[in-house]
Amino acid sequence: MARKPIIVGNWKMNKNNSETKAFFEKVDAVAASENATFGIGCPFTDLRTAVDNAKNLIVAAENCHWVDSGAYTGEVSVPMLEEIGLKYCIIGHSERRQMFGDTDETVNKKAKRLIEAGITPILCIGETEAQYDAGETEKVIREQLTGSIADLCPKCVGNMVIAYEPIWAIGTGKSATKDDAQKCCAIVRDQVRVMYGDEAAENVRVQYGGSVKPGNIVEYMACPDIDGALIGGASLKEDSFIEIIEKTK
Ligand code: PEP
Repeated sequence: MARKPIIVGNWKMNKNNSETKAFFEKVDAVAASENATFGIGCPFTDLRTAVDNAKNLIVAAENCHWVDSGAYTGEVSVPMLEEIGLKYCIIGHSERRQMFGDTDETVNKKAKRLIEAGITPILCIGETEAQYDAGETEKVIREQLTGSIADLCPKCVGNMVIAYEPIWAIGTGKSATKDDAQKCCAIVRDQVRVMYGDEAAENVRVQYGGSVKPGNIVEYMACPDIDGALIGGASLKEDSFIEIIEKTK
């Protein structure tokens, strides 16, 4: 079965409710497609507005907690996301791993709770510049996946989205070459195969992320192991995200 491409914007800590509404009013209609899924990951405070204004775009949270409720000041639980109708949630983004203490172990707990709720995790992994320079990229990818997708069922992993995002390419304008991105996404798929078998590996959708823009989306999407992209900066402006959608459709 062919994998359906999935392109998701990651707004990070950008846009308020009125900006979210304006974006969805302009972009949602363009995102109608049978061939690919397009969506936006936005701050918690924008999620309700995003869901209410999305007919075609899928909406993702940018994080969650794995416990359902309790004394966790500032956190948002999976049942809270479920209640507003979310179907996707980004977890383990490198900014969360680097600045907010997310680890493979906590990312794994988040993945388990999301899967239990029927919300698709968009699970991010990727090496630092120092690890890239030291030739450790493959080792880092395999290790991060070993921890982050541990103890799941093969079908659950097949339904996930895994975003390979080299940290040195995020927000830097320094994107990976298409050959490097393809090679690393193939390693992601192979590690899924090692852990969960052929069917999970063939079904899991692997995104590349790191300075993707209208000018390079087509070359990434032409790679056999790249099934989509996670896009930061270029998802913030309606026009550039629309251009990316139109080039992918
Ligand atoms: C990201 O936020 O995951 C990302 C890849 O950002 P950018 O596209 O700006 O590099």
